[in-house]
Amino acid sequence: MDKFGGLWGWVPFWSVLLLSSGLGVMPQAQGWSKEGHIMTCQIAQALLEPEAAEAVHNLLPHYVNGNLSALCVWPDQIRHWYRYRWTSPLHFIDTLDDACTFEYSRDCHDSHGLKNMCVAGAIQNFTSQLLHYREGTGDRRYNMTEALLFLSHFMGDIHQPLHVGFTTDEGGNTIELRWFRHKSNLHHVWDREIIQTALADYYDKDIDLLLQDIEGNYTDGIWSDDVSSWKQCNDLSSCINRWAAESINIACKWGYKGVEAGETLADDYFNSRMPYVMKRIAQGGVRLAMILNQIFGDPEEGFSAAT
Ligand SMILES: [Zn+2]
Repeated sequence: MDKFGGLWGWVPFWSVLLLSSGLGVMPQAQGWSKEGHIMTCQIAQALLEPEAAEAVHNLLPHYVNGNLSALCVWPDQIRHWYRYRWTSPLHFIDTLDDACTFEYSRDCHDSHGLKNMCVAGAIQNFTSQLLHYREGTGDRRYNMTEALLFLSHFMGDIHQPLHVGFTTDEGGNTIELRWFRHKSNLHHVWDREIIQTALADYYDKDIDLLLQDIEGNYTDGIWSDDVSSWKQCNDLSSCINRWAAESINIACKWGYKGVEAGETLADDYFNSRMPYVMKRIAQGGVRLAMILNQIFGDPEEGFSAAT
């Protein structure tokens, strides 16, 4: 069945004549913190079926020993490099202020109005590129390794609620406040602070322990009945739109609501928002696995590339 087929005709095949030689790193955190992206990718990789696991293994540079999560933060590290500057708007969506909705045609563009240049468009685009992997001819228009890393990263970003935020405050970046005793802003609270505080307070700063808790929640815990609906997807573009809409909905109800610039956020905010952060990381991972399994799985059951 050509589940997601027929959607790709319009996708702009952005010039992705990118080389794999430059997978270097530079410390910088934008998007889910490093930990958020690592957990998203570890969850996904553990859920891959054999064909997808093998394809991912083949696409990764040998120095990561088959560990996708080791490079899931790479798109944040290179987004300001001259060659990759075009990818910078692909990490987020600026929605209409206070609308609390996502509409692809209204909201998915960069600051110059260029269409499809947002995280929802990027997920479509890189999925589309990876569909050519199966053709086995090594389509030279695309760098499949980079497409895998971008897709894996952006599936994390679209699930970070404040990455689908309001335009004027840049997804909470301009809302400066304090997180407990230090200066922060609302965007960073959701990227990083909640995860860091959870790690420090409950997990002895051990990301593996936090990950075990998250995995326990969806395999045999509070979310185990929900997982099949999380990965339900008959039409990729409408699924992506739904995931973005979930994010702005959480951003409105739990991110922005009641928050004033200059205030201090502490225990109350942390305790009530932490479950949403953990759930979004789990959903991002489960859905990334779903997409990769579709891309690399049996062509009769998955979706196929546009010709
Ligand atoms: Zn990002």
